[in-house]
Amino acid sequence: MRRLILFDIDGTLLSAGGAAARAFHRALLEVFGTAGPIDDHSFAGKTDPQIARELLMAAGLGEEEITGRLPELWSTYLRDLPAELEVSRIRVFPGVLPLLKRVEQSNGDSVLGLLTGNLLEGARLKLDASGIGFNRFRLGAYGSDHADRPELPAVAVRRAEERFDHRFEGKSVVIIGDTPYDIACGESLGVRTLAVATGSYSEEQLAACGPDHLFSSLEDVDAVWRAVFE
Ligand SMILES: [Mg+2]
Repeated sequence: MRRLILFDIDGTLLSAGGAAARAFHRALLEVFGTAGPIDDHSFAGKTDPQIARELLMAAGLGEEEITGRLPELWSTYLRDLPAELEVSRIRVFPGVLPLLKRVEQSNGDSVLGLLTGNLLEGARLKLDASGIGFNRFRLGAYGSDHADRPELPAVAVRRAEERFDHRFEGKSVVIIGDTPYDIACGESLGVRTLAVATGSYSEEQLAACGPDHLFSSLEDVDAVWRAVFE
């Protein structure tokens, strides 16, 4: 059966070795003069606009001031991210490359996509720097589409339906991610959820959210494959 398989990036496909956090931190200081409580703040499962808002509101800035200067924040962040990626130890997690290749080679009518809190351009930079490659994903929904992650699955599904003239619904849509937010965000669409504990959440924490499938990593490609296509 045809699948729309939507991958989160950070903690799911790769670790960018803190590159994004460092570029984000510097951009916040440059544009807003503060990064708020960034050292104690979790980025996991959140969209980039959501993280910026949370940090800046904690620093006492108002909604209007934040919104007005977000475009400058993004251009500064994206300007510095390539250099940070270049000096960071980027790790692609076990099983990721074989899994992507297997979907591409043996189930050509299924669609590889992204569902991530990254800005589109940030996603492209991270995936290209890691060697996974951004262009193998046929579509995506990004933090630059909406600040609220629960809005993103519908964006991805709509793009897939427009592009492939095929209706993807219910369990034919598969969300693969490393946080409770990834598992929860597709709930209203009744999608299939596959949690993987390669990010900052443990298997126990992810199990408590009730994903359809739970893996310690994507390394057992056969088992992940069965979970996606069963
Ligand atoms: Mg993640």
